[in-house]
Amino acid sequence: MATAVLEPTVKISATKLLINNKWVEAASGKSFPTLNPATGEVITQVAEADAADVDKAVAAARAAFEKGAWKKMPSSQRGLLMNRLADLIEKHADELAQLEALDNGKPYSVARAADLPLTIACYRYYAGWADKLQGKTIPVSGRYFTYTKHEPVGVVGQIIPWNFPLLMQAWKLGPALATGCTVVMKPAEQTPLSALRVGELILEAGFPEGVVNLLPGYGPTAGAAIARHMDVDKVAFTGSTEVGHLIMRAAADTNLKRVTLELGGKSPNIIFSDADMEKAVEGAHFALFFNQGQCCCAGSRTFVEEKCYDEFVERSVARAKKRIVGNPFDKNTEQGPQVDQEQFNKVMGYIESGKQDKAKLVAGGNRVGDKGYFIEPTVFADVQDNMKIAQEEIFGPVMSILKFKDLGEVVERANKNMYGLAAAVWTQDITKAHAIADSVRAGTVWVNCYDVFDAAAPFGGFKQSGIGRELGEYGLANYTEVKTVTVKL
Ligand code: ADP
Repeated sequence: MATAVLEPTVKISATKLLINNKWVEAASGKSFPTLNPATGEVITQVAEADAADVDKAVAAARAAFEKGAWKKMPSSQRGLLMNRLADLIEKHADELAQLEALDNGKPYSVARAADLPLTIACYRYYAGWADKLQGKTIPVSGRYFTYTKHEPVGVVGQIIPWNFPLLMQAWKLGPALATGCTVVMKPAEQTPLSALRVGELILEAGFPEGVVNLLPGYGPTAGAAIARHMDVDKVAFTGSTEVGHLIMRAAADTNLKRVTLELGGKSPNIIFSDADMEKAVEGAHFALFFNQGQCCCAGSRTFVEEKCYDEFVERSVARAKKRIVGNPFDKNTEQGPQVDQEQFNKVMGYIESGKQDKAKLVAGGNRVGDKGYFIEPTVFADVQDNMKIAQEEIFGPVMSILKFKDLGEVVERANKNMYGLAAAVWTQDITKAHAIADSVRAGTVWVNCYDVFDAAAPFGGFKQSGIGRELGEYGLANYTEVKTVTVKL
């Protein structure tokens, strides 16, 4: 196939901390490198926030929340600013997609076609909510007039991951800004660049000072300082379940700040023999391999009905072997590198564990090339429920196929896991589809599709996949406090 490699032209302008609308160095003067995962080389140095910077940013966010332009601004004006930001992101979409490909390793064409439109749509969706946040009037006993107001929760700490840097930033900023909160956000240390570029666009859009503060840095330092800060009213976190526990503990040990968590998953993707096999094979492939397998909702337990099992495995192997792995800036590339050495090692460790547990390795299993963090699309068949690769989140391009006999059995097995983020079912039988949707313990169920996201549709986890919902109207609730006002008549 002819290569079609784009030369990245993006200039990196934002590498400092954004505090109170000013770009500043870290108090410590320290910086850290951010790497290009396709080569392992340093792209640039970025200022490294720590507790002292978190203090400064929280003070700025508190001042912006309590007095000044943001506090006084009519809610429709907040929506206008958010729409302006969406327009600016759209205007700079090529450049932002390049930054995403460079810093994260995802294919440029995917970032441009998926991450950017979803990001822009998310800001626009929440911009629309800014002036539609209404309370209720409530009939109570006696001669009183009671009504509720939905007030912003206050200063919000937001800690985001590296797998969809721009999109996760939008999921967090969207509801926070719509409701009138102010924000101290820590982008992931692996991928700070696009979030910081959006910081420049936030200034260009005209947001008042202190409303959005961006603190690139590491989790145990800057992230932990946000989680335990006494003057942060709420923390919203997306990342591993392990760190989710730490965030919740930090909130419990300090000021009982509100906590929302979007954590890991081990989502069952259930394929019945009456499914459209071509669509099911392609859908299951996409469900697992999309974004280098680095999706919290990846369909990472592919349950296949006995009757179509052999055919499904054969076709899935053929599809995985066809998957094009390589340069994120080649437009034919379907899969780039894993985000860093640590993730690469972790995924290779799971492949080893699958082999040791005697799952049947039917595709891939190796590194690709000798630089960067590329891994072959890997498929294990005959995976058993008790194997590590069937229980733990791999977060990489490793598909596990498990055989099942009937609906009752597969539901029980699908639910036997600590996670409950997403699930999917492939069948042409509407009764089976609804039976699965009804009985699987997961925050999202897709029927004959996978990874269909929309800013209007809530997303979040049952069980240890998280607390609270993001996106949609439901996503607003976590950013507001309900105030009840009662007036004697
Ligand atoms: P992953 O293992 O996929 O990198 P993490 O949960 O470690 O996921 O990271 C997600 C986000 O949480 C990142 O921004 C990271 O810096 C941050 N983080 C990691 N450890 C902590 C911590 N102890 N406290 C707060 N934030 C953290």
